[in-house]
Amino acid sequence: MFISVVSLFPEMIKHLASFGVLGRAFENQIASLQCLNPRDFATDSNKSVDDRPYGGGPGMLLRTEPYAAAIEAAKERQPSNPVVFLSPQGRLFSQESALQFANGNGITLVCGRYEGFDQRLIEKYADDEISLGDYVLSGGELAALAVIDSVVRLLPNALGSNESASQDSFSSGLLEHPQYTRPEIFDGQAVPSVLINGDHAKIEQWRIKQALGRTWANRPDLLEDRELSDHEKELLQEYVAEYNAR
Ligand code: SAM
Repeated sequence: MFISVVSLFPEMIKHLASFGVLGRAFENQIASLQCLNPRDFATDSNKSVDDRPYGGGPGMLLRTEPYAAAIEAAKERQPSNPVVFLSPQGRLFSQESALQFANGNGITLVCGRYEGFDQRLIEKYADDEISLGDYVLSGGELAALAVIDSVVRLLPNALGSNESASQDSFSSGLLEHPQYTRPEIFDGQAVPSVLINGDHAKIEQWRIKQALGRTWANRPDLLEDRELSDHEKELLQEYVAEYNAR
């Protein structure tokens, strides 16, 4: 997987991509990363990358030419990679989108700053526009890093043998069940006894029930998009009854 990031702050990307799972994946060449700074492609003497918006309004917009040249450079190296703009106006990023990117050969992520991009840049180059959520960040770098992290951890061998993405939240359309480690009692709270009795079938049922219950309580919208089996419906009913009796 070859990831290019077009950003005015490449150091942000390189630094944060050097830790943990992500850092290890780049070090082990499971994925590679290049950063392209549009300022390096600006041709005027001030190396300017922004200008005032036509029609007036607050703030500055990113100029087309330096971004276009940086994107062209990324395309030259990896012509088949989709060019993805980070923008609050894009479609909402999800685990499903991460999986789709992880099944491809790479991505070129374009990060905005200031008031964002000249629309013609998006018309010419965007294969996709992605938003991290319904809030406004100061720049696309944190959004790009969220995309990179969630995609790279899905690549084969990116996670260590003790780690797994297959049980993470969203992978089965549900939030993950609660987890516990030692000590067995913390601040008077004991680990649920089912997790200690060694009955793996019961543990599995408990986990499914908790995952369904958590999703119902915190993200009911996810349940609307997921057909439940009769058994899952029963487990959720039990969870809801126990929850209401608390
Ligand atoms: N004026 C723009 C608007 O209202 O849509 C916001 C520009 S924002 C201050 C600057 C840059 O941050 C954007 O071009 C984009 O790259 C990035 N950004 C901000 N919020 C984002 C979000 N929710 N998801 C992805 N990128 C975001």
